[in-house]
This record gives sequence, structure tokens and C-alpha cells, in this order.
Amino acid sequence: MTVVTGTVVASGTADGDVTDGTTVFDEDVPAVGKLDPGLGDALRKAAGDAAGDGVEFRVNSGWRSPETSEHVSGDAVDLGGSGAAEWLSEHGARYGLCQIYANEPWHFELRPAAVDRGCPAEYADPTEDPRLQK
Ligand SMILES: [Zn+2]
Repeated sequence: MTVVTGTVVASGTADGDVTDGTTVFDEDVPAVGKLDPGLGDALRKAAGDAAGDGVEFRVNSGWRSPETSEHVSGDAVDLGGSGAAEWLSEHGARYGLCQIYANEPWHFELRPAAVDRGCPAEYADPTEDPRLQK
């Protein structure tokens, strides 16, 4: 008898939905697995260090299919988990992980230059982001 093992992706996650408790290490979940590889690696590196401080990075939203935002290209992640956004706000620049919008403290993107220069100034909200203007 042959036993086939494999990863079963929970129904509903194909468009980028996440279930409670999804972390940045759950690469079998499309919301995490379809993130830009550089962003995913930086998140996992930071999460490993944050764990030493007792902080876990939960993914509230990563890659997702609809709407206009950096999430569609896998270049943004919305973090949850107690203290995660606060931890990354303080330490994220050294991993190239930056808050982009002042009104979305949970939304992080990869800014490799931040490792040397710190994170760029935040936009007040997404309507100020020239990337999202059509
Ligand atoms: Zn976001």
C-alpha cells in the first residue's frame, strides 16, 4: 500500500486568506509562500530574533489576490501577534523591514537600504503613496 503524503492547503487560503495562528514560517500557506522571497527571508530572520524576546510574528495578511496594493505583488505583510508590530517598529530597519504608512502600523515592506540608512519617512496613509496612484 502506498501512502501519499503532502501539504493540504486549507480551502479558502488560495486567494490569500489566512487562518488564525498563521506565522511567517508557514510557507505552505499562499499568503506567506507567495511573498517576495527577500521579504519572506527578512521576516523569518527577524521573527527568529524576536522569538528570543518572546514575540511571535503572526501574519494577518500577506500576499493576496484582489485590490490595488503592494500585497498583490507579495511585497507587503500585515503583522499581528502580541508586540510584533512594536518589536519590528523598533528593530525592523536592521532587517530592511519598514513601516510604510503612519496609519497602518502593522503593514511592513522590504526596504533593503534601511539596513544602512534606516527606514524612509512614512506616508500618512496609502492615498499619499505614489505607487498606488493610477
Ligand atoms: Zn498591508
